Amino acid sequence: MEYQTPIITRFAPSPTGYLHLGHAYSAKLASDFAHERGGKFLLRIEDIDHGRCKMEYETAIYEDMHWVGLTWERPVRRQSDHMQDYLDARDILDQKQLLYPCFCTRKDIRQKIKESGRAPHDLHSEGPLYPGICRNLTAAERQDHIEAGRPYALRLDMAKALELAKDTALAWTDLEAGEQITGPEALRDIIGDVILARKDIPTSYHLSVVVDDHLQEISHIIRGKDLFQATHLHRLLQFILGYKTPLYLHHDLLTDENGRRYAKRDNAKTLKFMRENGENICL
Ligand code: GLU
Repeated sequence: MEYQTPIITRFAPSPTGYLHLGHAYSAKLASDFAHERGGKFLLRIEDIDHGRCKMEYETAIYEDMHWVGLTWERPVRRQSDHMQDYLDARDILDQKQLLYPCFCTRKDIRQKIKESGRAPHDLHSEGPLYPGICRNLTAAERQDHIEAGRPYALRLDMAKALELAKDTALAWTDLEAGEQITGPEALRDIIGDVILARKDIPTSYHLSVVVDDHLQEISHIIRGKDLFQATHLHRLLQFILGYKTPLYLHHDLLTDENGRRYAKRDNAKTLKFMRENGENICL
């Protein structure tokens, strides 16, 4: 396979906790991939979630990465410094009438799903497939809710997005899994009307990551297999926003000695703990 040049990869952690071995593995893969081919490796801090991100975690990311022996280009892009870029992309989607306000609470959504008897599922922990409650509100109903001060998120109207993309093959390549086509089934049945701007934050992981990978000209996105399905959505957003599609490599997720995936929420042993206790890292 021909590599696109120049080669630029990135590691894009969220400072919502300390990094663990799984992060070190992913970052090293991306770094080695670029450096072995004369390319560049970037570090991006994905800190749009001001409620969960902390400076102490961000500081630890830099210290951990040094400890792992990685080097990266400067300046580091911190998403919280670039909100306007995400708002600009959001405006494009809005102008194409692909977004609608959603006033639902998690409870409303759970309730609706329960009534319909469908099994919920998660995409990057962002909640179950949205059952469309607010999709068909009238303009007057939307206005009433907004005037009443009800907080709202912005969701992608997937049916309209699919209509826009209906004559285009949304192809992308995973260097391991081969060529993929993002079909309407994956978009409709797995991703659905996903949130692109949260109630508390005017963007979302999916929108920001697609914008940044474009602006930073990432040629190869190297990240865990847990994001494989999300790439279908990212491919769709690239199409709508007129961005180039990078190559992908979704790697296996590192597991601990009990075969469990390392995860921040499971209190996996952190890199900070390892470096502060004189442990060695061998990747
Ligand atoms: N901030 C995301 C995470 O930590 C990055 C995912 C990605 O590489 O696209 O899960």
